Amino acid sequence: MQRWTIVFFARVNKGVKLTMSDCIFCKIINGDFNTEFVYENEYAVVFKDINPKADIHLLVVPRKHVESLNELDDEILLGKLMMTVKNATKKLGIKSYKTLINTGKEAGQEVFHLHIHILSGKMHF
Ligand code: AMP
Repeated sequence: MQRWTIVFFARVNKGVKLTMSDCIFCKIINGDFNTEFVYENEYAVVFKDINPKADIHLLVVPRKHVESLNELDDEILLGKLMMTVKNATKKLGIKSYKTLINTGKEAGQEVFHLHIHILSGKMHF
């Protein structure tokens, strides 16, 4: 049985409504919204946040669905995501920036597909 199938059944069994087919970032990665990727590689895509909180606000999103940092058990992927931050900002000429990972509802996580915010320039809050 495929891993995703197992995950799907696990969610159904727990009565959790959100599945990958309901995940906005999975849909973006699948190209459902024609979102422009300002950078991408084998592990992640990078696109502009729809509601920017800074002059430049990008999201680094793993292609693999992981709900949050708490569910991530893949050290290699974590490293690849941080290298994606570095390589994307370098390619885009962003020299100075903050990174942020909201983990959990109380911390402000709204989209439960792991992502790293890249914020640069003047903050909008
Ligand atoms: P978080 O609060 O850390 O879960 O961040 C989720 C971010 O995703 C927010 O900053 C939203 O503005 C952003 N967002 C939600 N939907 C979209 C979308 N369709 N395209 C781009 N960014 C989005």
